Amino acid sequence: MSDRVFNFSAGPAALPLPALERAHENFLSLPGVGASAMEISHRSAAYSEIHERAKSNIKQLLGVPDSHHILFMQGGATLQFSAMAMNFLGEGQSADYITTGSWGSKAIKEAQNIGTCREAWSGKAGNFSDVPADGDLDLDANAAYCHYTSNETIQGVEYQTEPEVGDVPLICDASSDFLARPIAMDKYAMLYAGAQKNVGPAGVAVVILREDMLERVPDGLPSVLDYKVFAENDSLYNTPPCWAIYIISLSTDWLVNDIGGLAKMEEINKDKAAVLYDVIDNSGGFYSGHAATGCRSLMNVTWRLPSEDLDKKFIADAAAAGLSELKGHRSVGGIRASIYNAMPKAGCIALAEFMKAFQQKNG
Ligand code: PMP
Repeated sequence: MSDRVFNFSAGPAALPLPALERAHENFLSLPGVGASAMEISHRSAAYSEIHERAKSNIKQLLGVPDSHHILFMQGGATLQFSAMAMNFLGEGQSADYITTGSWGSKAIKEAQNIGTCREAWSGKAGNFSDVPADGDLDLDANAAYCHYTSNETIQGVEYQTEPEVGDVPLICDASSDFLARPIAMDKYAMLYAGAQKNVGPAGVAVVILREDMLERVPDGLPSVLDYKVFAENDSLYNTPPCWAIYIISLSTDWLVNDIGGLAKMEEINKDKAAVLYDVIDNSGGFYSGHAATGCRSLMNVTWRLPSEDLDKKFIADAAAAGLSELKGHRSVGGIRASIYNAMPKAGCIALAEFMKAFQQKNG
């Protein structure tokens, strides 16, 4: 497909080409099935194999312990903002939130509609450019859970490692760095991610949930929001988003078989991000990065030019050069290059070369 551009979209985002090619090959008929993955029953043997492979790939890649369920839910990551509070935030309890950007802010806002939440830390005063040191957290030892966002997609601010929250169940929104690097899965009571950045199309959220959390789920929740219903029915209580899960199975096949696991993926992602951060750091201030150096995202690289007019010109000229979707989120402006797992290093190099040439002409 010669007209594919380097696509820096923040999500839905570029997917691994080998996964798309496999989906293309099997679009009309899965081998031996005679129908596509979106045309067969979610109770069929062929779909069951897809469902199991998506789960077992994720389990293998992240080292998910046997104590954790891997669920597929609809409603995006946004529905999880409410679901976690409905399932885990009991009467008279309070939950802690570490807010490092726009998505964390949305997460606490949704949960506050359900119950009592407090901010254990907020980066708002610093324009969400940093993450806290563990010592800066104002944690409630009795919190129902502590929620944080491992990578803030809009600000480009990423936690380098899990926050230390003691015995309080740790919950992570990993939507924009899911399967981008190894993590200590045993530290999490729950980790969830909308699929449409690193692993698949929109329409499915992966929820990895520790078994003991299910004891907290109250009776009477709507079934599609009830983690117990999903865990007991292997995410097949109602029709799952079969096609989206099929694409997850293919992109995780790529991670397992072609990339060789998350340690290797992280190495590649670090190498790619360094190409862009080097240009920012060596631009003499022409490009100014948003995130503090210690929490720069490997997935969403965010920066500004000296004026909004130059931001606009940069985005338009880049698009004309086959570097698409570089506009920062509408809430913050500037430039954002999303370089998820599927972005090849060649895309980062092409953007870096463009940045240098643009500065020479306009700096
Ligand atoms: N959390 C993060 C970190 C995100 O990047 C996004 C989407 N950009 C969301 C939550 C919301 O996801 P969804 O649109 O799937 O509800």
